[in-house]
Amino acid sequence: MFHPILKRQLRKLGLTPEEAPDPEKWIQFLERIDKSYIGSDLDRYTLERSLRLSSEEMRELTHRLQAALEHLRKLSMTDELTGLMNRRFLNVAIREEVAKAIRNHRNIHRGHPERVTSNVDIAFVMVDIDHFKHVNDTYGHRAGDQVIIQVCQLLAGACRDTDSVIRWGGEEFLIVARDLDTSGLGPLCERIRRSVAEHPFQIGQRDPLSVTCSIGAAVFPFLGSAPNALTWERVVDLADTCLYAAKRSGRDAWVRIGSTELTSAQDLTPTMNRAVPVLIQAGRLEVETCLPETRTLHWRE
Ligand code: GH3
Ligand code: MG
Ligand code: MG
Repeated sequence: MFHPILKRQLRKLGLTPEEAPDPEKWIQFLERIDKSYIGSDLDRYTLERSLRLSSEEMRELTHRLQAALEHLRKLSMTDELTGLMNRRFLNVAIREEVAKAIRNHRNIHRGHPERVTSNVDIAFVMVDIDHFKHVNDTYGHRAGDQVIIQVCQLLAGACRDTDSVIRWGGEEFLIVARDLDTSGLGPLCERIRRSVAEHPFQIGQRDPLSVTCSIGAAVFPFLGSAPNALTWERVVDLADTCLYAAKRSGRDAWVRIGSTELTSAQDLTPTMNRAVPVLIQAGRLEVETCLPETRTLHWRE
């Protein structure tokens, strides 16, 4: 009926549970139990204190870990040389804007003017420095880095604070321009082209260098009536195709491509980049360029 441990304790004191205890022994027994209560109070106090301390430590550690993770996340999305956001940033940041632009065009085409917000189309402008390898080879890699940094500043100066300038690759940048209609895109490309071409690139003590860039641009959604027909990545690819057309046409130039009223969703196939000249000829795509009169636009070598 009694716990074996209690029975053992009682036996040690010469007590048997079934018999009335000797008062002296009974007091000893109670004193012993009292001591074990005090002991367990102390144990509990120590345990609670260390639990409290370790949960405070855990909170502090979690806090520091979260701050370190946030720092790492920012680092992973920032380009070290220029401090600009990188490609990874765009992949994360653009999703919501893309969804908004698609929703907006659906509302326009379903006749819900009350749900249409002001222009939420996204303009992609791809910029690549011309003959940059020559800068590195002639003036050294450090001078090349300085040119990259100065080009970034010029790009930021040519667009609005709400636009994003992203370092897309080595000497290639992507500008994501917002709240810009098609008619504003050519002037933005021209502002960029001219600000780079006219800038004296001061590197160290030597005479300033001249640098130019080539630019390609396209807007997402590419076709308002079928906003899902080309993903934003494919529109960036089209801007890149335009950039290379600007390169092949002599550099220091820009090319913008867009849909027309003849463009259909079927034209926007995965292989359309190769068909661009044919689609332009058929009036199914429109192209705007800035080339000196002596040059012609070449889509391929
Ligand atoms: P194109 O006009 O056809 O664009 O010719 P390019 O010489 O600019 O292009 P190419 O792709 O041949 O060379 C780009 C060079 O940019 C090669 C690479 O070493 C250099 N580069 C890439 N990133 C950096 C960087 O961060 N700093 C420096 N200094 N150079 C870089
Ligand atoms: Mg280049
Ligand atoms: Mg390049």
